Amino acid sequence: MSLLVVGSIALDSLETPFGKKEDVLGGSATYFSTTASFFGPVQLVAVIGEDFPESHLQFLRGRGIDLEGLTREAGRTFRWKGKYGWELNEAQTLDTQLNVFESFSPNLPAAYRETPYVFLGNIHPELQSRVLDQVKSPKLVAADTMNFWIQGSRPALLKTLQRVNLLFINDAEARQLSGEHNVVKAARAILAMGPSRVVIKRGEHGALLFDQDHIFACPAFPLSEVFDPTGAGDTFAGGFMGTLASSGASGKVDQQLLRKAMVMGSVMASFTVEKFSLERLREVQRPEIHARFAEFKKLTHFDDLGPLGG
Ligand code: AMP
Repeated sequence: MSLLVVGSIALDSLETPFGKKEDVLGGSATYFSTTASFFGPVQLVAVIGEDFPESHLQFLRGRGIDLEGLTREAGRTFRWKGKYGWELNEAQTLDTQLNVFESFSPNLPAAYRETPYVFLGNIHPELQSRVLDQVKSPKLVAADTMNFWIQGSRPALLKTLQRVNLLFINDAEARQLSGEHNVVKAARAILAMGPSRVVIKRGEHGALLFDQDHIFACPAFPLSEVFDPTGAGDTFAGGFMGTLASSGASGKVDQQLLRKAMVMGSVMASFTVEKFSLERLREVQRPEIHARFAEFKKLTHFDDLGPLGG
């Protein structure tokens, strides 16, 4: 089944302890759609400026992503500048230039309006809502957000959250949104804001999935080289939502499927962080994805306890 994404397409300038890159391909929708394209059809809604390189468009087209909902407007492409320290867990935003995003109003092509799985990537929550105004009875709506919007557009974000089934958010942002320091309490508070499920991403410490009755914990893959964490969250969401959307015609979103989706999110994110920008996602092949998924199973498997003290 197809998957619709709205989000940012960016030219990122990144600094990690391992190097610097200027104006490389980035953006929430870019990481998400590239990742989700390994699993099935993806429809992209986003905006780029006049300066966006044709080679990047060719790359997205080459991944089979439907670009009918992508518009090019007069002005510069959205730009984000971020820096990471040695712990690599949280980006420090040095600069955000909304550029063409300031006047963007998503207009969904007719063919996108009945798409069953919707992902509202990290953009202004009002734009996220405008997308929801145009889709007809989606099966599942997931969203992502970040500190920039939690702080700057909280009322709009709270409205959007009432229309969202599943929220992806990192731990610092979950604390900021909920006002709760403890991650379990933060998750409970977010569930009371609208979503029936929340995934709290904790960088190298993995991710937690919460609903009213269950918690599932998935580690991050223990990598010996982490180069650039940019896009890990959107890649996680792409692997997660791609797994749900490709789960077959019955499409029952149960605990078993959600757990598999969590692991696939972690698998895909583990590739993204191995190189700068989308470099690793560009080259990864399906057999590597299968192999890492199998590694995850080994990594987390253990036997029943049996009697104690015997
Ligand atoms: P993450 O998966 O959280 O690491 O997302 C990284 C991507 O988010 C980068 O490629 C940025 O271009 C993009 N980004 C950063 N700030 C914003 C923002 N305020 N709105 C939309 N996208 C953003």
